[in-house]
Amino acid sequence: MTIAQEIKQEDLVAAKAYVDEVYELVKKRNPGESEFHQAVKEIFDSLIPVFAKHPKYKENAILERISEPERIITFRVPWMDDEGKVQVNRGFRVQFNSAIGPYKGGLRFHPSVNASIIKFLGFEQIFKNSLTGQWIGGGKGGSDFDPKGKSDAEVMRFTQSFMTELNKYIGPDEDVPAGDIGVGGREIGFMFGQYKRIRGGYPAGVLTGKGVGYGGSLARTEATGYGCVYFVNEMLQDQGMSFKDSTVVVSGSGNVSIYAIKKAQELGAKVVACSDSNGYIYDKNGIDLKTVVQLKEVERKRIKEYLKAHPHAEYFEGCEGIWTIPCDIALPCATQNEINEESAKILVANGVKAIGEGANMPSTLEAIEVFLNNKVLFGPAKAANAGGVATSALEMVQNSMRLSWTFEEVDAKLHEIMKNIYRNSVRAANEYGYPGNLVVGSNIAGFIRVADAMLAQGVI
Ligand code: NDP
Repeated sequence: MTIAQEIKQEDLVAAKAYVDEVYELVKKRNPGESEFHQAVKEIFDSLIPVFAKHPKYKENAILERISEPERIITFRVPWMDDEGKVQVNRGFRVQFNSAIGPYKGGLRFHPSVNASIIKFLGFEQIFKNSLTGQWIGGGKGGSDFDPKGKSDAEVMRFTQSFMTELNKYIGPDEDVPAGDIGVGGREIGFMFGQYKRIRGGYPAGVLTGKGVGYGGSLARTEATGYGCVYFVNEMLQDQGMSFKDSTVVVSGSGNVSIYAIKKAQELGAKVVACSDSNGYIYDKNGIDLKTVVQLKEVERKRIKEYLKAHPHAEYFEGCEGIWTIPCDIALPCATQNEINEESAKILVANGVKAIGEGANMPSTLEAIEVFLNNKVLFGPAKAANAGGVATSALEMVQNSMRLSWTFEEVDAKLHEIMKNIYRNSVRAANEYGYPGNLVVGSNIAGFIRVADAMLAQGVI
């Protein structure tokens, strides 16, 4: 008998009423934070059978506690631009939950960053980190600073000012930030330098995503994109399918996208489109990844320029249109809410078979419903993109041991972790009566580990 068969109908009804009540409380306590509400709603709804089965979680107010960050820090980040003008940005760090380890989660530098976005990302991070099976709690941070168009010197002055304040709250055993949108190797390097200068010693484990020459892990750069493809590959193989000879569309052209494209191509797929925040390119012959890497990672130019090297390709302004391209597999790897209900319906009508969320919350709740209702294989972000943070945790392990593993060793561990996340999510979905629904499965598997640790640690 599965857990689902043991649950009584009246307990489900009562659990739903309780979960709805706490959700209303979260909305009231965090007014106007729509992205945070969306992330909470998705997770809360999938936990209803867990609350129906285990009254101990309600009795100990786990839901009320887990949706309230342990600590939120906001701070002023003043810096001087190249013209000598003083600029002011806002910095954030949300330390959401430390039940299973030090806070861990990236820093995002993007003009859209606000409390709602950082809280949604931090909340998701709790469950994602739990799914990896490692000892890492949930956190997230960033700033409304826009690195686009800034000189290296401006980025350095900004990141140094940012770290001058943030250093008071982080440390290798307390809180370990990493990259996210707008924060790559260059920014992590500047921030590590400033942290070291202020705090002294060589605290390698305070940040992950460092350069491999000074404490970074091989395969960390590739990990989120590779991990996403490994996860989707598990979903496909379970249904007798594979990447080989499939047509793939990947949104974005940043860190996650580039390595998702690389691994998908290695597995025999033809990736026909990618994008940036201005528009997307379609190359029916298959994207030439070398050109994309040169444009986005070296020259920091717009994706439109791809056409200079490949005049047969096409460029379209705007981002949403990318989902009208017929494909077997779609990997949204740019940003939140980039696939809405309408785009999801178009993808389904064009015969999409699998979605792997490389970005965080790229599909709206309505879009997810369309995919699930149409039996599209759906790999939700917190499972499919967990490879990045999992490899960050492997970087922490190497830093503690003061040694470096080879690329192959790290990649093999990443691959195994992604397989485990898939298996655990499938198992939880089956046990709780939602076979094939990895949204529910990953939320439940991630939640139970954290909730049990919170129970064990008392009312804190
Ligand atoms: P990058 O900054 O390297 O790349 C982001 C890409 O998405 C760029 O191509 C960017 O275009 C595009 N983009 C950003 N904002 C928007 C927008 N509003 N509309 C359309 N396109 C946009 O970031 P990452 O690749 O690191 O992160 C991408 C996603 O993956 C994020 O959701 C992030 O939270 C998630 N993620 C990242 C992890 C990591 O290890 N890096 C780990 C887990 C999740 P442009 O060049 O024009 O800015």
